[in-house]
Amino acid sequence: MFDVQTVRADFPILSREVNGKPLVYLDNGASAQKPQVVIDAITQAYSQEYANVHRGLHYLSNLATEKYEAVRGTIAKFLNAASEDEIVMNSGTTEGINMIAYSWLGPKIKEEGGGEIVLSVMEHHANIVPWHFLRERHGATLKWVDTDATGALDTQKVIDAIGPDTKLVAITHVSNVLGTVVDVKAIVEAAHAKGVPVLVDGSQAAVHMPVDVQDIGCDFYAITGHKLYGPSGSGAIYVRKERLAEMRPFLGGGDMIREVSKDVVTYADPPMKFEAGTPGIVQMIGLGVALDYMMGLGMQNIAAHEAHLRDYAAQKLGGLNWLNLQGTTADKAAIFSFTLDGAAHAHDISTVLDKKGVAVRAGHHCAGPLMDHLGVTATCRASMGVYNTTEEIDVLVDALELCHDLFA
Ligand code: PMP
Repeated sequence: MFDVQTVRADFPILSREVNGKPLVYLDNGASAQKPQVVIDAITQAYSQEYANVHRGLHYLSNLATEKYEAVRGTIAKFLNAASEDEIVMNSGTTEGINMIAYSWLGPKIKEEGGGEIVLSVMEHHANIVPWHFLRERHGATLKWVDTDATGALDTQKVIDAIGPDTKLVAITHVSNVLGTVVDVKAIVEAAHAKGVPVLVDGSQAAVHMPVDVQDIGCDFYAITGHKLYGPSGSGAIYVRKERLAEMRPFLGGGDMIREVSKDVVTYADPPMKFEAGTPGIVQMIGLGVALDYMMGLGMQNIAAHEAHLRDYAAQKLGGLNWLNLQGTTADKAAIFSFTLDGAAHAHDISTVLDKKGVAVRAGHHCAGPLMDHLGVTATCRASMGVYNTTEEIDVLVDALELCHDLFA
């Protein structure tokens, strides 16, 4: 049975106060808090089990390697990848998508003298800027698909945008600003029918719902550890094995080679080929524990709890007729972006909320094209996680009422 109070007790930071008020942490879309098991795993790794991985023949190095490499299997299980060899461990989504741009798509676009990349307008900069690099360097074209007035993305519009020159569809599974859930499975099916691979940015989705990369059928699926109740600087990208075989190395250095001489270099097999240098050993160990923690709670249970929060928040926030909610589609995660009637800037709203102990994010949320599409420069965003409660949503609503009184 899922019990939110038991879950809350697992996260020590939730019992602290901020500005003399109990912390109401609604900035999970930016980064999630860490359960004690993750904090303990980090302490244990540094205090009892630390050494560099892969290279050593001594006890601690073998132990650290064993713990670190086990995480690959945990990630494969979490994403239901067919093989753990399809999991490239890295520092997070930004690194993962940059690797695909540099190692897989860049050489293709260069060789073929251009090509299109289909994107939705609600992509995070991490799933935009690496493709802009390919536009600047190799003449790629970015083709954008807009959301409708409710923040929904019409799957058919994405499919229609895939043309003979399309080399990749790069799309988020869940919008970090609107919470919109994208039907990535339908997009993959249609894209593959046209011979086009699909990259899914799973940064926001993997924390809120069960993810099955085999069922989705995508070629690439990026996740980032700090949003998954794990340490910052941890993450991974699932790469289907056919695509792995097409990729040239990314960063060069130790661990990713087979042999190096003065004249020649040969590379390790994937996934090691894409993991140069000393990795985030302890961060990844912490991520493994975080994913086990989530799977222990049950991803279906997490999704059900957050659907309840979403529905409660949609009803409460929807009742404030001076609040402009962005993203009202029903099929969304518990992520709410809004602006307020009157002069209040998103930053002013978040400052007032902070005085009430409520942590939200204000700004463009690294989603410039979406801000332009919505005709705003910034929004306030309340994003919920596994430990949030309906009572906390009430605190948010009370604090917003205060903003309205102050700024109206
Ligand atoms: N994509 C989405 C949808 C995100 O929300 C984020 C983080 N805000 C990222 C990519 C980038 O993740 P990271 O900064 O951890 O690499």
